[in-house]
Amino acid sequence: MLPRPNSKAIDRKRRLALPAEDPPRRPPAERVGGFGESWAPVSFEWAKAAAERCIQCPAAPCVRACPLGNDIPYALWHMERGLVVDAALIFSRTNSMPDICGRVCPQTELCEGVCPYTKQDRPPVPIGRLESYAADWMYREGLGVQRAAGRTSGRRIAIVGAGPAGITAAEILARNGHAVTMFDAWPEAGGLLQYGIPRFKLSPEIVRRRTKGLRSLGIRCRFDTTLGKGLSVDGLVDQGFDAILLAIGAGIGRTLEIAGADLEGVFQATPFLVRANTDPSLLPPTLRSIPEVGRNVAVIGGGDTAMDCVRTALRLGAERATVWYRRTEVEMPGNPRDRKLAIEEGARVEWLASPVCLEGDETGHVRAMTLVRMQLGAPDGSGRHRPAPIPGSEFTVETDAVVLALGYLPDAGFIARIAGIEAEPDGRVRVDPETGATSRAGIYAAGDNVLGPALVVDAVSHGRRAAEAIHSFLTAGGTIAT
Ligand SMILES: Cc1cc2nc3c(=O)[nH]c(=O)nc-3n(C[C@H](O)[C@H](O)[C@H](O)COP(=O)(O)OP(=O)(O)OC[C@H]3O[C@@H](n4cnc5c(N)ncnc54)[C@H](O)[C@@H]3O)c2cc1C
Repeated sequence: MLPRPNSKAIDRKRRLALPAEDPPRRPPAERVGGFGESWAPVSFEWAKAAAERCIQCPAAPCVRACPLGNDIPYALWHMERGLVVDAALIFSRTNSMPDICGRVCPQTELCEGVCPYTKQDRPPVPIGRLESYAADWMYREGLGVQRAAGRTSGRRIAIVGAGPAGITAAEILARNGHAVTMFDAWPEAGGLLQYGIPRFKLSPEIVRRRTKGLRSLGIRCRFDTTLGKGLSVDGLVDQGFDAILLAIGAGIGRTLEIAGADLEGVFQATPFLVRANTDPSLLPPTLRSIPEVGRNVAVIGGGDTAMDCVRTALRLGAERATVWYRRTEVEMPGNPRDRKLAIEEGARVEWLASPVCLEGDETGHVRAMTLVRMQLGAPDGSGRHRPAPIPGSEFTVETDAVVLALGYLPDAGFIARIAGIEAEPDGRVRVDPETGATSRAGIYAAGDNVLGPALVVDAVSHGRRAAEAIHSFLTAGGTIAT
């Protein structure tokens, strides 16, 4: 590795004057013709030039904005010199999934959002694209595979949930010599990376090369296995596990309590995305058919999932695909970059409208949706302006399919019922925020089942913290309270 740059020797004026070239994307018409990744490949020369724009800010706001504290300026210092593997190794010190986070993180809200160029209304250093470029390079060089620790601790850990939180924790614990077994309800590892985030944002090959590494670390995988159906926490204790990590996400889709919500052609976001985006061989028979969307699709909700659904609908052949959101763009959650991509691809977004009822045809298939116009009132508990219907403003639109992307919740009551541990009133697991320890010694939790719906990078950060705490607990001789 190179020594860190001398801050005083950096010619910031020269760097600030360097031309900015946005990371290339495939043209929208080509993108919607299939499910391939939206980004176009970048060249070595492009990556070096993009990294050279980093002015090596002494305060490094990008590092502080990254939930994992990635040492971005130091990685880019290597990248601009063409030392791509070193750059990847620096990202990998703090991030076990740089190839994935580089693709799916909302960088405009995190590292790139605080880049000094952004403040000047200029394109930021494309940190995410450079991170995934470096990580992909490392895989091509055969350096992405991790090896198990030479020694074994003799302690056994069960990790329930093979999403980014569970995978991150499993890798760290295995590298520390513990015997890890992962359990998951799906047939393959990845959680929402494999069964949720669409292929055009994150290709399944990227996820699979990552999850393939689990076995090379000696991690045992027991998939198609559901906690609460034949598998219980006390059963795991009886099997001799010394610690358990619950990383089961927050996978319950919010429902819409209006007439017609049970019609044919009305889809919940996750099964819709999974059926459209996942290789059928990785799915149970009930989810193997591609959703039929017809010509006119309505997506209800805001945020990343709504954008994923509308972009998926366009790829499934919809001629008109519209997101209906009850607030305005200012209040809309999610990544503005994904919204821009969706609109480029032909998606429409209608603000300040909320569905009132759905109508079916004689076969019981949805054919129309009545909505009411909304206006914003005083801010609610979340600080966002509360929407209220405008009396008499109802209107009806024709639709062939409706996708409900109304957000996610943890399964309220599930945790308390299954594990006998304390839960928050909304169903999230109650933990010590420093360690992820639950109210029962030896049982930890990490990721969306603690945070509520969050980001991949948060799940990685959480999984890492819980793994470090479990390692300390086991090293100190701890075992699960019975
Ligand atoms: C459609 C969609 C798009 C998203 N897009 C982005 C994005 O672009 N960028 C971003 O940063 N974040 C995105 N997110 C959020 C991100 O995917 C999650 O925050 C992250 O995956 C949470 O990780 P996790 O490990 O906590 O849980 P998950 O990824 O949800 O994994 C939990 C795992 O637990 C398993 N499980 C659940 N219950 C049981 C049980 N009872 N027994 C056994 N196994 C069980 C599940 O099968 C799953 O594999 C998106 C989320 C969705 C839904």
